[in-house]
Amino acid sequence: MGDASPSSATAGATVVRRVPYVVAQGGGEIRYSSYDVLVIGGGIGGLTAAGGASRRWNVGLLTKSSFDDTATFFAQGGIAAALAPFDSPVLHLRDTLAAGDGLCDEAAVRILVEEGPERVRELDRAGIRFDKRKGQLILGTEGAHSVPRIVHAGGDATGSVVAGALVDAIIAGSRVELHEHEFVVDLLTDQGRCVGALSLGRDGELTVSLARAVVLAAGGAGHVFASTTNPDVSTGDGQAMAYRAGAVLRDMEFMQFHPTAFHGSENPTLLVTEALRGEGAYLLDRNGGRFMLGVHPRAELAPRDIVTRKAHEVMMRDGIDFVHLDARHLPCPHLRDRFPTVYQGLLKRGYNLCSDLIPVSPASHYFLGGVVTDHWGRTSVSGLYACGEVTSTGAHGANRLASNSLLEGLVFGERVVRDLERYLSGSRPSVRKIRLGLAEESREGNRGEDVRRLRRRLGLIMSRLCGIVRSAEGLEEAETVVAEVRSQLRLPGRDPEELELINLLTVADLMVRAARMREESRGVHLRSDFPTRNDALWRRHIRVALGAQGEPEVHAERALVMAPEEEEKGRSA
Ligand SMILES: Cc1cc2nc3c(=O)[nH]c(=O)nc-3n(C[C@H](O)[C@H](O)[C@H](O)COP(=O)(O)OP(=O)(O)OC[C@H]3O[C@@H](n4cnc5c(N)ncnc54)[C@H](O)[C@@H]3O)c2cc1C
Repeated sequence: MGDASPSSATAGATVVRRVPYVVAQGGGEIRYSSYDVLVIGGGIGGLTAAGGASRRWNVGLLTKSSFDDTATFFAQGGIAAALAPFDSPVLHLRDTLAAGDGLCDEAAVRILVEEGPERVRELDRAGIRFDKRKGQLILGTEGAHSVPRIVHAGGDATGSVVAGALVDAIIAGSRVELHEHEFVVDLLTDQGRCVGALSLGRDGELTVSLARAVVLAAGGAGHVFASTTNPDVSTGDGQAMAYRAGAVLRDMEFMQFHPTAFHGSENPTLLVTEALRGEGAYLLDRNGGRFMLGVHPRAELAPRDIVTRKAHEVMMRDGIDFVHLDARHLPCPHLRDRFPTVYQGLLKRGYNLCSDLIPVSPASHYFLGGVVTDHWGRTSVSGLYACGEVTSTGAHGANRLASNSLLEGLVFGERVVRDLERYLSGSRPSVRKIRLGLAEESREGNRGEDVRRLRRRLGLIMSRLCGIVRSAEGLEEAETVVAEVRSQLRLPGRDPEELELINLLTVADLMVRAARMREESRGVHLRSDFPTRNDALWRRHIRVALGAQGEPEVHAERALVMAPEEEEKGRSA
């Protein structure tokens, strides 16, 4: 049993785990560190929480890769906020509820849209170089937004500009201990309270980081599927480790597929931002017909789930695995200036945005499911906060409105900071010493090639059977294959690839179970055998937590009801 403590340790605690930690100690030493607040993740959620918390507390931040390897860094379109004189939080609320297809928590959305503008202004005041004309923010249009409200930077390089500035500010403040390439394996809990995390360094050594509070901001899980826009880090580690630590997860069936990822063989694939359609680009079928006309009054700018479904339907109908994005009628200098990332990315792949039809197809993009939090980022595990894509705050419902997720990271990351004041100012004892209960054996683990083969199999099966269109039969098969893949894995050694596969399997398993249970179609969840939305039975969230026997306990809970007229107005208008 591992024992981790500082030399001056006085207090002790015994960690009680219902499930074993994923790694074993294997006889090696365990390093130790201690913070007031430990943040896991270096995207917008983690950076916002760490930057804010460090004004008062001693903060450590761990990321499993580098700061430029996050979904945040790759974000293109921008941040949605009601900043224009012709806009208002009420309009933004209405659009968000409409996109969410009946499952948003209206109170969470209100917080998002009402606090969002001030968070963006703060970034602007802090000197983040948003795109402006004559000193005024330029606001873009994206799908399902009724007015232009997308703040962007570097044309279509919003994520790298914002993330870069946040990291620079944290480094300049030198109040956060930053550790890149530190893979968090598991959360540490002591009698139901989260007291830190166990991580694996690049050198293969384990570290115990004790903390009075932990903020989980480990992002999404796009790599559950074979084709994704998500960076390599998005393997559902946060959702899986929170689940193992006893946190409640929700909405795990909802994975948003972006309709316009570049259609090629690479994974992750290049996103061809929705903002291009906001500027007037069309979606065409193989005969050059604009297939979104007549499907929705906003045509190519319909909510993302509607565009993805239609693109998928057209691909099936035409017997090809892509559709075309056409921006050839738009002024070329403008395309080059406004979309430098996409323009250059396509050139590298042999396509000219100004003169070529661009082959695009749906790819997994944003995970709506995750760790349940209240409006202050508190999870069901005491001492464990969460923000960003790893969460289910209720702000997105069954389908996220474009450019609302960077906003969510900012708004709820800041709320976490405010609540930490309350939580840490109380009489929270520091945990000085813990008995880990790590298995001691040395493990050989799995061969890299086996791990990669199993991961490919998982991705393909999830894409085919639990992707854009689902059915009871397919989901049953998916459940069997997920279990089969899991059974082929030996206990892991200390290779992050193995640990990621375990996490992907956990997320896939929970996703399939929830997708089987939801016998209706809503938002991004489309069941061919239950093709319509069924509010009478399914205006509910599916919640899941680890049961006492080590199996998931899944149940449906009634969703907080919103004003239906608000929601309906935007969805069909
Ligand atoms: C290509 C692309 C374009 C997008 N464009 C937009 C847009 O224009 N507007 C918008 O609002 N949203 C956009 N999104 C979505 C948005 O970028 C993400 O939802 C958001 O950035 C998530 O932020 P995050 O902080 O939660 O996670 P991320 O930014 O993904 O950061 C996750 C962090 O957690 C760390 N991590 C993960 N697992 C572990 C582990 N086991 N141990 C340690 N660290 C770990 C990672 O290393 C990383 O630092 C886009 C997404 C993609 C992929």
